[in-house]
Amino acid sequence: MVFNTEAVVIRTVAYGETHAVLTLLTPSGKLAAMARGAKKPQSRLAAGSQLCAQGMYALYQGRGMADVRQVEVITTRRALRERLDLAAYAAYVCELACIGIEDAPSAPASAFQDFVGLLDRLANASDPPAVLARVWEAKVLRMLGAAPVWTRCVECGAPWTDTGWYHVQAGGLLCAACQTRYRGPGWPVSAAAARVLEQFSRVPVQRMGRIAIGDETCRVLDRLLRLQMSEYAGLSLRSRSVLDSLLDVNGGMPSVDEEGE
Ligand SMILES: [Zn+2]
Repeated sequence: MVFNTEAVVIRTVAYGETHAVLTLLTPSGKLAAMARGAKKPQSRLAAGSQLCAQGMYALYQGRGMADVRQVEVITTRRALRERLDLAAYAAYVCELACIGIEDAPSAPASAFQDFVGLLDRLANASDPPAVLARVWEAKVLRMLGAAPVWTRCVECGAPWTDTGWYHVQAGGLLCAACQTRYRGPGWPVSAAAARVLEQFSRVPVQRMGRIAIGDETCRVLDRLLRLQMSEYAGLSLRSRSVLDSLLDVNGGMPSVDEEGE
């Protein structure tokens, strides 16, 4: 049976000398497909087999893994391969997508739309890549059932107007009263930062305006999301280590270009 689907490549693994096994994210979820000969430079499947490429894929589904028969490329998102930092961010969000999004046909179409929207923003440099990474982390945590409601105390449910406190043992933010029951101080997270986190988690990427958050808020969210991912979703990703060491080399700044924003 041959069927057509729109998809974006979220993982590509060499298979033998010339083939590639792709993980395609479709509007109904992930599926694996073999792109035969895709690693030959002249292959008509080469462009559509690159990470973050998007197109219409004609797939033959036999008894085993699907075979890519044809690709009509919509975009290869070349910008994501031309800048080292963007390539590292792209690899990271793709790895998160591989983990967070369910196999076809179980995933909601919103996962595909959110991810495509995120990659477009990353490629267009319309928002700082570090902020986009936080948006995607917040969404993936929610997909994995590892995100609390960030605008309320996880213990008593009280919303806050001032400050919440992140305690890793609590798995979310606590109000001042509840946090006294936990050992050691939590990290203060402003009500504004908590609202941002909740929006990152719930608002579709296409409906987000330009995302304006300060460097300090971004750092707080980075620290918090990183702990929440490792403690509650068991995520420790190779692509994240690559990204971290790259950012470290650049003095912790996401990229030189962003200084002027
Ligand atoms: Zn409370």
